[in-house]
Amino acid sequence: MTTLRIAEIFGPTIQGEGALIGQPTIFVRAGGCDYRCSWCDSMHAVDSSFRHSWPAMEPAAIMARIEDLSGGQPLTVSISGGNPAIQDFGPLIAMGRARGYGFALETQGSIARDWFADLDMLVLSPKPPSSNEVPDIAAFEACLAARGRGEVSLKIVIFDDADYAWARDFADRHPDLPLYLQPGNPEVDPEVPVMAQDVADRLLWLVGRVNADRWFRPRLLPQLHVMLWGNMRGV
Ligand code: SF4
Repeated sequence: MTTLRIAEIFGPTIQGEGALIGQPTIFVRAGGCDYRCSWCDSMHAVDSSFRHSWPAMEPAAIMARIEDLSGGQPLTVSISGGNPAIQDFGPLIAMGRARGYGFALETQGSIARDWFADLDMLVLSPKPPSSNEVPDIAAFEACLAARGRGEVSLKIVIFDDADYAWARDFADRHPDLPLYLQPGNPEVDPEVPVMAQDVADRLLWLVGRVNADRWFRPRLLPQLHVMLWGNMRGV
């Protein structure tokens, strides 16, 4: 069976972002990404120089670790990365679903996979201009088309006015999707503490921005895990 390069499996913890914020979750972080966002806080799961720390695991071994961490309780499993869409998570999702686990997956929307249809939650997180990446609109649309019975939501991190303007334009093209905006975290060094007040201040700026525009569609959230743990890994 195909193996998957996995950077981390950890939990139970809480989901810190988006539509499932606060939900008890086991995280599976895939190794490898087709982007190099300027502010990526997960380079240990992106940069191939870390590849030695991404063991190739069979889905059954990943599932065993999930069951061990969750004590056999079918929590939500959140697959993140990196970009998990560069690998085939279909067999793991099928295995977990047969055991009662629900699966969420976050991707920037650059690669569509047919197994997106088996997810309970597909979080599409296109990257704004400050990332220095340029989303492929056709690929993003293909990801949307691959959706199945589960929910799909749009999550965009905002660092500045240019990101905000871009997010408005992008979201307007997808009026049917639940929309979550989060201020970005400019501190990417896992050794440097992040002050919860700094996270709150960036969220206050974003609240002021949407209120000034009377744009009441998005839900505004902090990155809760950053507020609680900064850039610490494995929580
Ligand atoms: Fe990092 Fe996500 Fe950008 Fe990949 S898409 S480089 S994981 S922020």
